[in-house]
Amino acid sequence: MRKPLIAGNWKMNGSLELLETMKQALTSAQISSSVDVAIIPPFTLLMSAKEVLAGSSTGLGAQTLHPESSGAYTGEISASMLTECGVGYVLVGHSERRTLFAEDDQAVLARVRAALGAGLTPVLCIGETLEEREADRVETVVLGQVKTVIDALSAEERSRLVMAYEPVWAIGTGRTATPEQAQQVHAMIRSWLSDKDPALGEGMRLLYGGSMKADNAGDLLSQPDIDGGLIGGASLKPDDFIAICHAA
Ligand code: PGA
Repeated sequence: MRKPLIAGNWKMNGSLELLETMKQALTSAQISSSVDVAIIPPFTLLMSAKEVLAGSSTGLGAQTLHPESSGAYTGEISASMLTECGVGYVLVGHSERRTLFAEDDQAVLARVRAALGAGLTPVLCIGETLEEREADRVETVVLGQVKTVIDALSAEERSRLVMAYEPVWAIGTGRTATPEQAQQVHAMIRSWLSDKDPALGEGMRLLYGGSMKADNAGDLLSQPDIDGGLIGGASLKPDDFIAICHAA
């Protein structure tokens, strides 16, 4: 069985104070050990988060990385720098990176490779825009994004990925995909993966992201092909984030 993962993507938000509050809230919430929980704060909080979370079961993730291991890339962070901060997960291809920072499928693939090379778990984000959905292109877009990465990796590498389906029109908009809409895309992705390799399809953790909140998490997470959530806005509020963790 796939173990659910609830990951909180803080984006360019949060503070040392929130880190402490979140840690305390997660500790007293006693979340079931059958759920993996991770927080993904900005780079500047990673080293503190490593210390604050030491000895707890909450995982730590980063929001992006540079594909090169070192060099003259002012402002960038490499995979090995992340591992030094105790990071286990790294988001790759989040739609905000694809759109605002012009990361195309090849740039995404390079980052997935760098993450895998450093022993990190890449959380590959995929999803269509509203325009693409309305033009009936969900399958083409989403499977295109999946295929670029999956086809370039070995079986062992593929097995170390997590994926997050995040319809762009649902991110930060308060407009959530219905459980049926999300399940439909998740099932499509899983079936494509299973055609490639049955064990890959069966084992891949497919998270849903896009306005997942305390009040809709239960319905989304009860879908057979939804194995967790990538939470933005609601991950900044400890009570809401914990409610989502409990729902998983
Ligand atoms: P949201 O963000 O929950 O605020 O919609 C999700 C994400 O971007 O990962």
